Amino acid sequence: MKNIVIFGAPGSGKGTQSDKLIEKYGFKHISTGDVLRDQIKRGTELGKTAKGFIDEGKLIPDELMVGILADVYDSFGKDHEGVIFDGFPRTIPQAEALKAMLAERGHKVAAMVELHVPDEELVKRLVLRGKVSGRSDDNEETIKKRLNVYHTQTQPLCDWYNKEGLFHSVDGLGDIDRIFGDVCEIIDSL
Ligand code: AMP
Repeated sequence: MKNIVIFGAPGSGKGTQSDKLIEKYGFKHISTGDVLRDQIKRGTELGKTAKGFIDEGKLIPDELMVGILADVYDSFGKDHEGVIFDGFPRTIPQAEALKAMLAERGHKVAAMVELHVPDEELVKRLVLRGKVSGRSDDNEETIKKRLNVYHTQTQPLCDWYNKEGLFHSVDGLGDIDRIFGDVCEIIDSL
């Protein structure tokens, strides 16, 4: 079982690469952003809380996110190839909680793969995505806030995973299939 954290700023291509990984390796997939958007659509208490944070470009408090994580992970059962964590963890407490949650089950993260993309390109991609996604947070003002949150709260996880010996980075600029090839090389080496 290979549990993989696919990591990067908003717009770095985590969702695109996750879809391709699921198809190739049969991994299960947790996208915390998708989980939250689904909760908002269904009008749940969590969804109502999450909406305010998402629209502001802020992170949902760690304790709420960690609660969701174990439930989704356990819903996959035990008999699978591994799980892709997409959009989680986003803070050091989340990374610690993920490690503890997996350890309780005798599991671990096999690798963290960063998709490295410069900010100018991220803004371009997200503005373009906003035109088709209808996502309330894909507008220029919120994009800037999300990138700021990424650099201050999320990017320090590169160092955290490096210390764990799990950090890998891929150039996330350019052809999708070339990027995918680089990601697969890492996964196949695990
Ligand atoms: P995403 O679809 O991954 O870009 O997530 C969209 C928004 O959902 C983020 O800007 C956050 O407001 C929220 N969100 C998603 N995942 C997390 C997480 N792991 N921790 C906190 N907030 C999150």
